[in-house]
Amino acid sequence: MRKPIIAGNWKMHKTIKEALEFVNEVKGNVNNTDVEAVICAPFTLLKDLKEATKGTNIKIGAQNMHFEEKGAFTGEVSPLMLKEIEMDYVILGHSERRQYFAETNETVNKKVLKALEVGINPIVCCGETLEQRESGKTKEICKLQIEKALENVSKEDLHKVVIAYEPIWAIGTGKTATAEDANDVISYIREVVAGLYQELANEVRIQYGGSVKPSNVAEIMGQSDIDGALVGGASLASDDYLKLVNF
Ligand code: PEP
Repeated sequence: MRKPIIAGNWKMHKTIKEALEFVNEVKGNVNNTDVEAVICAPFTLLKDLKEATKGTNIKIGAQNMHFEEKGAFTGEVSPLMLKEIEMDYVILGHSERRQYFAETNETVNKKVLKALEVGINPIVCCGETLEQRESGKTKEICKLQIEKALENVSKEDLHKVVIAYEPIWAIGTGKTATAEDANDVISYIREVVAGLYQELANEVRIQYGGSVKPSNVAEIMGQSDIDGALVGGASLASDDYLKLVNF
């Protein structure tokens, strides 16, 4: 059975003080043991967050990493550095990284392979722009992004990968795909995964992301193929985060 995963993506928000206050407010209150609760935070918060959540059921992830282990890459963070501070997850290929930081399907693939090699579970994002959706290209775009991101991922590692379907027009806009539409694309993405390893497609967790909030999380999570949510804005306030993970 696939355990649903609800991950907050804090993007470029919170000081260490704010992050620790947040943890104090939520730890001990994540009561839904049927869900894996995750916080993906900026690099400066990760070590403190990991320490503050030890012994709780909250897992911690980064929002990006380089695919090389070390070298002359000013400003970058190595997968080994994330492993050293015991990161459980790393978001890879978020549309904001693709849009503003020249992330490509090729670099996402290199990062996915490296994350798996060092033992960090990747949350791999895919999703279409509004223009692509309106011209009927949603599935084609997701297929390309996912096939490329998962190229050369071994059979043994595939179940460690989480996929996040995030239509770009729904991120931070307040517009959500209908739960049925999101489920339709996500079941198609599962078919794409089945094209890689038929027998493993039912083990891979696929989240929806895009303006998920306490008021719509239950409907989204109620869909047959949706195994969780990647949540930006609504994951920043501790009371909302608790409503999301305890939906
Ligand atoms: C995201 O950043 O992954 C996201 C889905 O953002 P929001 O929930 O704010 O739309």
